[in-house]
Amino acid sequence: MATQHASLKRLRPPLSGFIVDGFNFCEADVRHYLLTHAHSDHTCGLHASFDLGTVYCSSVTARVLRATIGLPEKRITTIDVGQSIEVEGVQITALDAGHCPGSLMFLLEHLATGHTALHTGDMRASQPIREAVRVHVMPLSAGVEAHEAMGALLQRHGERYAAVVTFRPTGWAYSKSDEAGLPKPWVEGAGSTRMYGVPYSEHSSWEELQAFVAALRPRALVPTVNAATARDRERLQAAYAHAMDLAADKGRLDWHFRRRPSSAVGASSSSDIGGGGGTGGGG
Ligand SMILES: [Zn+2]
Repeated sequence: MATQHASLKRLRPPLSGFIVDGFNFCEADVRHYLLTHAHSDHTCGLHASFDLGTVYCSSVTARVLRATIGLPEKRITTIDVGQSIEVEGVQITALDAGHCPGSLMFLLEHLATGHTALHTGDMRASQPIREAVRVHVMPLSAGVEAHEAMGALLQRHGERYAAVVTFRPTGWAYSKSDEAGLPKPWVEGAGSTRMYGVPYSEHSSWEELQAFVAALRPRALVPTVNAATARDRERLQAAYAHAMDLAADKGRLDWHFRRRPSSAVGASSSSDIGGGGGTGGGG
């Protein structure tokens, strides 16, 4: 759940003309509102009569906003993956966040100074997975209807197959009673239909977040999830300090000598690291 805190929503100078995923924190002098995706913890505060400026989002997110909250078209400027637009001396590029349909990351570049920032929102920084096998994709409920659908699929393919095995993405695949951490399948029809729940997250794993920060080497990182207090933010930033470019930040030299914290920060691994931090583009 994205933290609702004014200081995290407005980007730092020279990008302070922009607010990210924060419609509860509108300010009179800000006319540009970047929205990464349409999940409600990112749109809260946005309503049909919003008139404080322009909402920048993907065309998929724009459709969701029109359909759900009735945001008028004239309030929205769409920008899709790979596109760049220029707004008041800032080039904004939309990058795929891999989180949900229409989800974006925003790369902002202040053209006069070269200062850059990347706002991730929620994102899944995984390597693209190539399809190595031929699989059927079918809707799977959590109930017995899933087994009925699997049975119907089996019948359609006649004698060719003896059983159908399905994998259902879920956040609740494991229970303490599962031996060796392996989930048990739900089996019906004397073994002819078999469904495994497999853990899947639309947010980056701990390893993905570490690799992402190491690849970008940002000079600053602004956590926007589980980041309500200064102590929370310090704890999260410390977890990534070893992978950041802190050479220019004298105030943070202590981080070079600090041991990497262990399990305490792992809890944030399924959340995003929405960042307004500079990515080392000068300025
Ligand atoms: Zn989300």
